[in-house]
Amino acid sequence: MKEDQIRNEVAACVRMLEFLGLIDYSGHVSCRIPGAADSLFINAWGAGRHALGPGDIIKMDLDGNPLVSTDIVPSEKHIHTSVYRARPDVNAVAHLHPPVTTALSAAGKAYLPVMHHGAIFADGVPVYDDCRHVNTVARGDAVAALLGPRRRALIMRGHGAVVVAESVRAVFYASVYLEDNAEKLAEAYKIGQPVALREEELELNQWAWREPQFQKVWNYYQEKTGINFGDAA
Ligand SMILES: [Zn+2]
Repeated sequence: MKEDQIRNEVAACVRMLEFLGLIDYSGHVSCRIPGAADSLFINAWGAGRHALGPGDIIKMDLDGNPLVSTDIVPSEKHIHTSVYRARPDVNAVAHLHPPVTTALSAAGKAYLPVMHHGAIFADGVPVYDDCRHVNTVARGDAVAALLGPRRRALIMRGHGAVVVAESVRAVFYASVYLEDNAEKLAEAYKIGQPVALREEELELNQWAWREPQFQKVWNYYQEKTGINFGDAA
């Protein structure tokens, strides 16, 4: 995939996450730049998430420095840089402010996979128990350590969430279903004791983590929102 296509894809991802209410005036999506192991694309600090385009996707190195000195990177860049240093399997990272997912942490309620798509979080969604901004290397490293070698997401108590995946479309997909599962889980907590997917159900539903699924959900939201910068598959 060419760099222009990746910028288009990251911009569309941010815009669609904002459309869905998972990102607001802040929040960010990054991805590794293929062939340049130590640099990333990320949306610029000041770009309005409801209106940004590919020109607002800037380059940053793995120390969090912009490659163009006039560009301004997000203050919570450490979420991204620490995760990429720790996880060679991860090519895309999203920092979200998803309302229901975050509310679960504020209520002290465990995040459980209750929907079949929730099985993509079979390795758990732990709570990072620090509501401060992740604006230091130490905090970024603490986020990465809590994700560990396999997890796809964590909740930042009183703040938001971090989702990681192998591609931008996969990170979009996981972000959508992190909040979707949280919505049903929160409803279940209101009614009674939620029933989490059983061990064998978690196994059976691993079909949900596949490229055709990422593409289907991506296409659905591109058509629904009309947000498409020309990032052909
Ligand atoms: Zn944040």
